[in-house]
Amino acid sequence: MMNKYIFLLAIALVGLTVGCKESDNDTAEQQPVTNPTLPDTSDLFFSVQATGQTESGHADTDADAMDDAAIWYNTADPEQSLILGANKKLGLEVYGLQGTRLQTDSVGRINNIDVRDGFDRKGEQIALVGASNRDNVGIDLWMINEQTLQAEYLTPGSLPSNLPDVYGFCLYQSQTSNLTYAFINSKSGAVEQWLLTYQNKKMTATLERTLKLQTQVEGMVADDHYGKLYVGEENKGIFVFDAEPQGSTEGTFIPLSGSENPAIRYDVEGLTIYLGENNTGYLIASSQGNNSYAVFDRTGTNEYLGSFEISEGTFDGTQETDGIDVSHHSFGSIYPNGFFIVQDGINTSSGSKTSQNFKMVDWKVIAEGLQK
Ligand code: CA
Ligand code: CA
Ligand code: CA
Ligand code: CA
Ligand code: CA
Repeated sequence: MMNKYIFLLAIALVGLTVGCKESDNDTAEQQPVTNPTLPDTSDLFFSVQATGQTESGHADTDADAMDDAAIWYNTADPEQSLILGANKKLGLEVYGLQGTRLQTDSVGRINNIDVRDGFDRKGEQIALVGASNRDNVGIDLWMINEQTLQAEYLTPGSLPSNLPDVYGFCLYQSQTSNLTYAFINSKSGAVEQWLLTYQNKKMTATLERTLKLQTQVEGMVADDHYGKLYVGEENKGIFVFDAEPQGSTEGTFIPLSGSENPAIRYDVEGLTIYLGENNTGYLIASSQGNNSYAVFDRTGTNEYLGSFEISEGTFDGTQETDGIDVSHHSFGSIYPNGFFIVQDGINTSSGSKTSQNFKMVDWKVIAEGLQK
């Protein structure tokens, strides 16, 4: 455990140094002063180091280009699984588990990305990748060709959203109806839920409902088993909704997911869910303003369990993380215990800044930190 005074000092220093803000509001903003009477969660903080990284994205050294990542687990050959990366200046980038880039698809400024296996395409089960496309103000979909391991683009020009702009995105596969939905949001706080179907040899989207949050949102993740949608309001915290289209449109705030928790500093960015045994697990959030990741119980009332950072080791540590993802699967000899992946907003190589990339952490290391 990191000494709590060092941690609090680190928070103060980050607060002083985080000031520059990029044009599309994707970098952390300063947070109001923390009330000292609030709970001291600093004993719940730990550090891990990255165990791998991807190649840098196709972008200038100073560009804030990479955002979200999604892990596709290849059941037939786990070591040939894929990392799907959103390059918000360019399009989709696909990497192997060792971080080698395998494919680039320049479809436009995609922002957040997600993947689900088992989309029913008229009796054929396909792995479906989805993303928000800011250029086309819509939803992009690919299928993973499991023979060639290429992502095949299914929606030229994107499936249009009704929102004025699109930003965050996630997929939801209902375990009650077996239907697959896309959630896509706008910086205004509106979240659309679209049913994805395959008709007349094309992917189509049908609007089911629109949820409203009060301020700017981005990160979202759905828990398929529990039928929940988690939405990050960047300057407020995390809200949970019923993910079923006929469910309540009222969200519930997750305690200690906002400024009342000294370990969380805005923006609350990427969200992901670790699927543990017997439907246990964790909800993880990127706390962009203090370069750390906050962990909540997946079940019940989503109790806050602690936070960790990815500090310098074999690879540089991670800063200002946008998107994150995690997989509990065993990836053969590469990641036998699964892994966590994050965007690194400030990627350095031998001390020099280089284009942004994604860093991976062996899940075993994080699990050990959470058990202390
Ligand atoms: Ca953001
Ligand atoms: Ca960023
Ligand atoms: Ca995602
Ligand atoms: Ca870094
Ligand atoms: Ca982002």
